[in-house]
Amino acid sequence: MSTASSISPGSLNDLPFDNRFTRELPADPNPVNSRRQVQGACYSRVLPTVVASPQIIAYSAEVAEILGLSREACESEQFAAVFGGNQQLPGMDPFAMCYGGHQFGNWAGQLGDGRAINLGEVRNQQGQHWTLQLKGAGPTPYSRTADGLAVLRSSVREFLCSEAMYHLGVPTTRALSLTLSGEKVMRDMFYDGNAAYEPGAIVCRVAPSFTRFGNFQIFAARNDDETLRRLVDFTIKNDFPHLGEPSQETYARWFEEICRTTAEMVAHWMRVGFVHGVMNTDNMSILGLTIDYGPYGWLEDYDSTWTPNTTDASGRRYRFGNQPTVAHWNLYQLANALLGVFDGPEPLEQALEMYSTHYEATIQSMMAEKLGLKEFEPTTDKDIIKELLEVLQLVETDMTIFFRQLSNIGIVNADDDADCLSPLKAAWYKPEQLIGDKLSRIANWVRSYRNRVQQDGTTEESRATKMNSVNPKYVLRNYMAVLAIEKSEQGDHSLVNELLELLRHPYDEQPGKEEFAEKRPEWARTRPGCSMLSCSS
Ligand code: AMP
Ligand code: MG
Repeated sequence: MSTASSISPGSLNDLPFDNRFTRELPADPNPVNSRRQVQGACYSRVLPTVVASPQIIAYSAEVAEILGLSREACESEQFAAVFGGNQQLPGMDPFAMCYGGHQFGNWAGQLGDGRAINLGEVRNQQGQHWTLQLKGAGPTPYSRTADGLAVLRSSVREFLCSEAMYHLGVPTTRALSLTLSGEKVMRDMFYDGNAAYEPGAIVCRVAPSFTRFGNFQIFAARNDDETLRRLVDFTIKNDFPHLGEPSQETYARWFEEICRTTAEMVAHWMRVGFVHGVMNTDNMSILGLTIDYGPYGWLEDYDSTWTPNTTDASGRRYRFGNQPTVAHWNLYQLANALLGVFDGPEPLEQALEMYSTHYEATIQSMMAEKLGLKEFEPTTDKDIIKELLEVLQLVETDMTIFFRQLSNIGIVNADDDADCLSPLKAAWYKPEQLIGDKLSRIANWVRSYRNRVQQDGTTEESRATKMNSVNPKYVLRNYMAVLAIEKSEQGDHSLVNELLELLRHPYDEQPGKEEFAEKRPEWARTRPGCSMLSCSS
């Protein structure tokens, strides 16, 4: 288990709940847990399904600390019972949210928390609200034709990636715990008729709010402006209290903030090489948090057209390079839904325009930081970055290693092309491809970069320190998750916990852990789960 020295001593029964969402918003009056269309309500009350033998595999000590839970509490039997869904704590008021969404560009109608159950909102000692949500804890009124469950494979991926992203500095929902349910769940991993039983698991996710673009869209689609306005006003009051009382001006500033935080979230994805994989509008957080870790993946060789999601393999709507554009498309859908509470479209249109300029400015300054430059200088750096992104795709180049090693490029000229590139050699999957025009083009890029760095006048040491704080050494490479899952499925959860610990310090050198900073091994190139993932989870 991961450890943190300063967990405050609080027991589970002392967790203070303050459930604003269920207290202030309209509930589905039907208490029965049957699948249905839910009208005029933001949520349905529903209890997690009792499971056979909940067992904690891992927990995040930092998230426990945010909630005020002691290590003893996290290692108690009660913790497994509560976060496996078998026991409710005093003050919990479990519910599933009603939302809709555009899936792969098409309006899909009511979706909702089909396998997520919110337990309640903890108000911690700092006065912050954190909603606890079980994913995979059984069916809800929104489960449609599915079972409401999750398997170990996808739960390990969600648990580890949530925490890894947080420590990388990327806005994200968090994960408190990863629990085996002790039950088997049937899945057809590749939708090819080969269904098999897999271990069931439950992740407890934690976020200030799990509200999605789709929570607003569903009411607009049903012409239910009254509930729409209630949810908008509730969200502003509770999740955006700094904006002040709801009014037309507040609405405008609110949507502007959503556009801004969404732009920043996506810019961070592009900075670290993260591909979400399913950017449907029901998977877009109103707080600009990365949410719903499904068939996501990490760029290994830099390829802007790559998507890990097999369901999206033909259209590649959610490919790496398209994420900023898709986020804008999703914001446009949200704007459309919000028209019902705005007096006119102008503020929404202005904010959508601002999204593009804000994204551009954010990614430019992040790229400047990745290159160790004091500031983004348009006259020189636009060209340097444009050429870099092309050079990265000339031969198979590991994005993470390339940027990490770039801090070792000396500013003294090395004339020979091969010498020029030697500090970067760990980044290339097939070094034999580095010949002729490709070799000289990459070497020329290094020369222009070196000149630029020289003009900047920073010392090599300070440049390296700055670069190493934004260019991670360790990310959750797709094959690493696969190795952890395979062990875990055999009952050995040590690698899950080792990776959790490793990814708590992605920018540190961590002697002894270098194997996790190396290129993806060749066996992982075509292995399912390493380079391609289905939505089955
Ligand atoms: P996703 O593509 O994972 O974001 O899911 C889209 C919708 O399908 C959401 O409403 C989910 O709650 C629902 N869903 C996904 N998997 C399941 C499942 N196993 N059981 C019930 N609902 C599910
Ligand atoms: Mg989802």
